[in-house]
Amino acid sequence: MVKKGHLFIISAPSGAGKSTILTAILKKDSRLRYSISCTTRPPRGNERDGVDYYFISDVAFRKKIDSGELAEWAEVHGHLYGTSARFLDDGLRRGYDILFDIDVKGAKKLYAKYPEATLVFIAPPSMDELKRRLAERGTDSVEAIEQRMKNARAEMAEAKWYHHVIVNDDLAQAISELKAVIEKARSQK
Ligand code: 5GP
Repeated sequence: MVKKGHLFIISAPSGAGKSTILTAILKKDSRLRYSISCTTRPPRGNERDGVDYYFISDVAFRKKIDSGELAEWAEVHGHLYGTSARFLDDGLRRGYDILFDIDVKGAKKLYAKYPEATLVFIAPPSMDELKRRLAERGTDSVEAIEQRMKNARAEMAEAKWYHHVIVNDDLAQAISELKAVIEKARSQK
């Protein structure tokens, strides 16, 4: 019988460098899968449908809510985000460890459903640095950056109930810290 996979719930204020860290980890670890959420947010930059997100309409998203197929869903920054429970359960059953990138509210809901999961919070070195990174990214308007900074302050206050907090000061160091968290969880199974 295949050993069931482990769920890693990862949160970070946007701009903390989470995507870069997760991409680096996923490239080198064939037992890991990235959980692809659905969102009503339009694609940014070179994001691809079915890779970064499933980009769907508001109507299609509401249908998924009504049919009960989402493990959880939330409105973040004015857009809807959610993930199919089947995607998650199938992956875990097939023995894949799953990285689930989710905001703090969603993380709480998901953890209630999957209490065996490991929670990891990725934090920026400082709020000033976060603002600088968001501006440098050049993908968001001034208003959107302000909104993300406001959310980031609220999210940082929630880091305390995560099992692990990784400060992304040095990228290579942050990647190796997350790798160590994953290996530790695997060795405890
Ligand atoms: P972004 O628009 O920057 O890609 O993501 C915005 C926020 O939505 C991030 O905090 C991200 O973790 C969160 N998010 C992504 N997918 C999901 C999901 O399936 N459910 C919930 N609740 N949040 C999600």
